Amino acid sequence: MADQKLITSIPILQKHAARLEDENWAFRSYIKGRLKMDDEELDEVVRARTEEVWSQISCIGCFNCCIALQPTVDSEDCERLAKRFGLSAKAFRQRYVTKDQFGDEMLNSMPCPFHSENGCTVYEDRPRACADYPYLYSKGFRQRLMGVIQNTAVCPVVFNTVEKLKEDLRFRKKGRDRR
Ligand code: SF4
Ligand code: SF4
Repeated sequence: MADQKLITSIPILQKHAARLEDENWAFRSYIKGRLKMDDEELDEVVRARTEEVWSQISCIGCFNCCIALQPTVDSEDCERLAKRFGLSAKAFRQRYVTKDQFGDEMLNSMPCPFHSENGCTVYEDRPRACADYPYLYSKGFRQRLMGVIQNTAVCPVVFNTVEKLKEDLRFRKKGRDRR
């Protein structure tokens, strides 16, 4: 894929992610069952590829994660954001937070209430989940593959990194056309 152009258009990415769904689940099985590489080394490979891909993709003008996902929030996030708005944590929660079926708290609308055309309006105080997204620099890639595959339909960094990893990890031959 080294010579292939990265996909950054969200509609095109969604189309390819849908087409590649079966292959992506097979890639997950390969990494979990057959790839002879320990978790630490795998995380290093993923980080290196993420860095290389992300250096060619700008979040400015994308912001699809802010449009298509609802980030989780914890107490520290709520307190920090409440302070920013001059609200109590309780008032902030009433206005901006909901709970999922497991009781985890998340921002209450999609697109995110803090999203604007120019990006995040609370950037310095954004939830930790936003700062860490799309989690490709986090430990435990092998254990988080389900979320990674779901994010191939959301984030160009994830989609293109996964496509590169298929070659890096010898799941697919280099240069095979993915389209
Ligand atoms: S993290 Fe991914 S989805 Fe979010 S703005 Fe950046 S490229 Fe787009
Ligand atoms: S808080 Fe900011 S970074 Fe997080 S989803 Fe909302 S707009 Fe995006």
